[in-house]
Amino acid sequence: MLKRTARVLLGLVMTITFALGGAVLTAGPAQADGCYTWTRTLAPGATGNDVTQLQIRVAGWPGYDSVLAVDGSYGPATTAAVKRFQAAYGLAADGIAGPATQAKIYELQDNDCTPIHFTYPELNQCNSTWAGGAVAAGTAKANALSSMWKLEALRHALGDRSIRVTSGFRSYSCNSAVGGASNSRHLYGDAVDLGASPHSLCTLAKQARYHGFRGILGPGYSGHNDHVHVNQGPSRFWSAPSCGI
Ligand code: ZN
Repeated sequence: MLKRTARVLLGLVMTITFALGGAVLTAGPAQADGCYTWTRTLAPGATGNDVTQLQIRVAGWPGYDSVLAVDGSYGPATTAAVKRFQAAYGLAADGIAGPATQAKIYELQDNDCTPIHFTYPELNQCNSTWAGGAVAAGTAKANALSSMWKLEALRHALGDRSIRVTSGFRSYSCNSAVGGASNSRHLYGDAVDLGASPHSLCTLAKQARYHGFRGILGPGYSGHNDHVHVNQGPSRFWSAPSCGI
């Protein structure tokens, strides 16, 4: 999302251009987002990095027990995810990522590409860098970004009330210091721990099953009575026996 001043300035520049040039400005999609700007409408059958960028941002809407493949190919699963995203935000749910859908995504992202309600520091509470884990720093940071878009979907689905992140990426030393499992997905940057309030842990654990996480552990699972763990590792599992899952 552009900062307010930048948007005002942009509007001013456009107004001046219009006044001085007397030319008719052609209406087009919102441009120059601070993070990423699409240059075409994306529809089923499209391929490319711009599809990948879309998939990262709608991967929190894959449907129950599903994970959206981020593969740069706009197939049926991407179409369905776009429809769920559109419906969730009050847009016409046609499954095509045109100007209105792209504009909504611009509204939802900060200039560093994180969704507006989550930040990189929040997902990296014990390191200032993203190094020292099980993957390269850039990979860990990209994994955290992917998780944040899923958390943004989870947050919206739960009524736009805050979600509290208590742990994200951990280097090996950080993971040891907090007593994490030696093969923890936190070492990869794709795991996030969530605290209770305003939502109960069971509400978080259950709703997370709709938003594209591969692994979910919550109340009743050993060591998880005070937080819900969600991750995007290779294994699919859900366990929160106290919540009935
Ligand atoms: Zn965890």
